[in-house]
Amino acid sequence: MFRKLLALLTGWDPAPVPIDAASWRTLLAELPLLRALSPSEQQQLHQLSARFLADKHFYGADGLEIDDGMMLRVAALACLPVLALGYDWLDAIREVVLYPDLFIVHHREVDELGFVHEGSATLSGEAWDFGTLVLAWPEVQQAGQRHDAYNVVIHEVAHVLDNRNGAFNGFPPLPAGMDRARWTADFSAAFDTLNRQLDADIEPQIDPYAATAPTEFFAVTSEYHFERPDLLRQAFPAVARQLARFYAGGKDKDKDTDGIGQAR
Ligand SMILES: [Zn+2]
Repeated sequence: MFRKLLALLTGWDPAPVPIDAASWRTLLAELPLLRALSPSEQQQLHQLSARFLADKHFYGADGLEIDDGMMLRVAALACLPVLALGYDWLDAIREVVLYPDLFIVHHREVDELGFVHEGSATLSGEAWDFGTLVLAWPEVQQAGQRHDAYNVVIHEVAHVLDNRNGAFNGFPPLPAGMDRARWTADFSAAFDTLNRQLDADIEPQIDPYAATAPTEFFAVTSEYHFERPDLLRQAFPAVARQLARFYAGGKDKDKDTDGIGQAR
């Protein structure tokens, strides 16, 4: 919000960072996920990535040296979810921190009774609500291959989109034309089904991490939407339809294209 205000008051808006053609070609060659986009979508992604490189700061943690190719890969994968939603949806991200490997975070929480809970976890990525995207570089390198539904960048960006209305709860603001009650019903039913399956020792059709919280369900199913929509349609068809419409900016892609372009 502050950046927007500053831009309005001062006209400050960093110029997009030029991306050279060879680097872009290399990126597309390495990432089947981006190669599957239409030429116009690729062009749009190129433009958004140039803006991302201009107005987000990148830092390497624990001595990791960051080069242009690494930043471009993160930028393109981060912009993919907002191709149709619009670049504004990434406003909350101010900086990207890359770790050379999985990283350990320490949490300290105080509950309603005043007790302090401390713990630590090994993570591949984390989205902080004060504007930092934290990613383990080896996990970013795995993202975008489409052989599994794992994509740490899309996962963390989904949390950022989720938090756009002030809470990590799996219910992001919806584009115009989408039905909030329908969304809530479809996601709640699928979340409950997944948890019941796990309780009954039934092999889940998607990563069981999705069952840990509604925000994780939204983030994990977003990974499936982009990387393996076929698996998501099999497991939770109603959620697959909601996400297809959400990431199309509220447009009903099935009606517009007779299913063409649904492969991604
Ligand atoms: Zn998560």
